[in-house]
Amino acid sequence: MSRLPTVPEQPIIRPPSEAASVLVRATRGCGWNRCRFCGIYPSFGEPGHSFRSAKEVCRDVRALAAEWPGAESVFIGDADPPAMPLADFEAILREIHAAFPKAERVTAYARASTLWRLRPEGLARLAAAGLTRVHVGLESGDFATLRLMRKGYSPRILVESGRWTKAAGLELSWYVLLGLGGLDRWREHADGTAAVVNAVDPHFIRLRRLWIYGGDDPESPAGMPESPLWALVRAGRFRPQTPEGTVHELRRFLERLEGVSSELASDHGNNYVRVAGRLMADRDGMIEEIDRFLAWPVEKRQRRYRLAGSQL
Ligand code: SF4
Repeated sequence: MSRLPTVPEQPIIRPPSEAASVLVRATRGCGWNRCRFCGIYPSFGEPGHSFRSAKEVCRDVRALAAEWPGAESVFIGDADPPAMPLADFEAILREIHAAFPKAERVTAYARASTLWRLRPEGLARLAAAGLTRVHVGLESGDFATLRLMRKGYSPRILVESGRWTKAAGLELSWYVLLGLGGLDRWREHADGTAAVVNAVDPHFIRLRRLWIYGGDDPESPAGMPESPLWALVRAGRFRPQTPEGTVHELRRFLERLEGVSSELASDHGNNYVRVAGRLMADRDGMIEEIDRFLAWPVEKRQRRYRLAGSQL
């Protein structure tokens, strides 16, 4: 009896830098699902969480390879595949390399707390099985901001897991969320984030801006579910950053970077000023670009804020 063709499952989201990658789904949704600024998987119709079996994922990998045998990069989602049983994730990574012999880059989302729990030994096993890069939400290096946002880890965990990840030979791509400290902790947010980056020197720093979607947000389409952060806004426990404040926050973050060699990108449409380059060589140029922007007439700056829009 012939078998029906299988349709591989696809991750719900992927990083912009993985636009040309083959997408493999190893987990469904997010096992943490508590970050107040997020709610992304429930918003896209995946409120629960499960690990797919290695057998099922490997079957998808083979089906994908039949379609894109020459793929050079593969991204594994949904949230935090390294939280899977280690042997299962290793089996998936090995299947990916067998099926895509030209794939030099195999990446996944990962939570810093998961990388920390894996310790150097577990991270070395993932690298040996063929994982090459992890995309991690640093979000903030400010302890109080991380706690308020229920991120579930501390600056210390970020620093230790980041160092261990690099030492294991994995590339570390960290996402910084501008605006996450709100009006009340934007300085601590910028300073703490720079301190964590300085302590680890990740391979990549990617900038995003907080969008408190749904609820009272005028840009959100009608019927869109609301960000869990609205509850804090309404309770007066979080005062959102202003657009211009976000730009000053970025400037302050850049100013406090020291001795790092990361590639920094604003590879998301919702950034107001898109700075990019190699640190530290390009840092002063980025600050000058921000200063040129801040010297624009106020109407022109306001127009940029309106046009940048907020999007996922
Ligand atoms: S930010 Fe990441 S870890 Fe937090 S709820 Fe969203 S997907 Fe999960």
